[in-house]
Amino acid sequence: MDGVITRFAPSPTGYLHLGHAYSAWCAFDFAQRHGGRFLLRIEDIDTVRCRPEYTEAIFADLAWLGFYWPEPVRQQSQHMVTYGDALVQLQDLGLLYPCFCTRKSIQQEIANANRAPHGPDGPLYPGRCRALSMAERMERLHEGQSHALRLDVGRALELLGGVPLHWVDGEQGVEITATPEIFGDVVLARKESPTSYHLAVTLDDHVQGISHVVRGEDLRQATHLHRLLQALLGLRTPIYHHHPLLTDEQGKRYAKRDKSLTLRALRAEGVSAEAIMQRVRSGATLLA
Ligand code: GLU
Repeated sequence: MDGVITRFAPSPTGYLHLGHAYSAWCAFDFAQRHGGRFLLRIEDIDTVRCRPEYTEAIFADLAWLGFYWPEPVRQQSQHMVTYGDALVQLQDLGLLYPCFCTRKSIQQEIANANRAPHGPDGPLYPGRCRALSMAERMERLHEGQSHALRLDVGRALELLGGVPLHWVDGEQGVEITATPEIFGDVVLARKESPTSYHLAVTLDDHVQGISHVVRGEDLRQATHLHRLLQALLGLRTPIYHHHPLLTDEQGKRYAKRDKSLTLRALRAEGVSAEAIMQRVRSGATLLA
């Protein structure tokens, strides 16, 4: 396979745990086996939850386990202008609208509705602000009302002429038809976070020339939406591998809140890097 580039893209909102080590290893091992390159990327767009000390810990913990990657490491917080430009591109296509709804008003509307379609992240946005007249939109914007920017998924699909989009599931070697509408009109930007995970990750995979996105099964559904953003913004579509999530002895997913299972905590208890990597490799399903 030519020019394989994979990446591990953690968010520095806590210390890494065994599940992260496994995910990093899946991407690292895939690149190694195909004579490719493995990149590390820091996804720190959430200025409230991300902390520099967690970023430092990511570097230290991964290096301790024996991972290596080229410098400089891309940190999303330094590329807000790129994400902002992409938002303007979508805006110019007429695909974004301001949404003035609060979380509470959305919940209320859903509770009052006869049917509330659900997507991978919960109930879909019912679309109240999509239906606002241009005059009302302008007036509320003019008044400085706080708002998010949502993607009008229906209009986006229409713009693409109703031609179905596809992405390749590298693991199964099959082409999957993208169904981005399962998310409804997603938020792509808010005042306090001027870009969303979906937009930043899709752009970065393109900018960094990622050929194979190797990431957890929990992000499989997001790939449908990422495929739509690629089509709208003229970005390349990598091949996707979604690895199973490493679980503990009880079959429970590792989570950042399990402080005792962070790589730091295990190291402090005297567990060696080699022992952790053995655990990680044995929990691994080999990717083709
Ligand atoms: N930053 C995401 C996370 O920590 C992963 C993004 C991805 O691999 O696409 O869950």
